[in-house]
Amino acid sequence: MTTINAALAHALHLLRQDMLGYLDAVEFLTSEDDTDDDTVLAVARTEVPRLVAALRGTVTAHRADHHGLCLGCPATWIDGRLGREAWPCPTIERAQRFLKDPDSIYSATPYARL
Ligand SMILES: [Zn+2]
Repeated sequence: MTTINAALAHALHLLRQDMLGYLDAVEFLTSEDDTDDDTVLAVARTEVPRLVAALRGTVTAHRADHHGLCLGCPATWIDGRLGREAWPCPTIERAQRFLKDPDSIYSATPYARL
């Protein structure tokens, strides 16, 4: 098993914190009752396209090949053979679930916020 060194682990932690911090900021600026409508509109206009692009990129990457296997998921050992997840893979299933029920992310993954 390969382990990552401390510097790489720290860099990955900072990347994750940066992404979750961005999401927290967008959520705060668009959902707080004391945020004025102009701010909500300005943040929505600039950030919703970014969020759509991020999700669209994920959905585009995690598509089925001609065998019905996900092209976005890395190959893993399945029943002694190297194979890929069937589509819809866990990434797509989670994305669809959270699109339909956004609040479910906080019970499913309580570490989703900083
Ligand atoms: Zn996938």
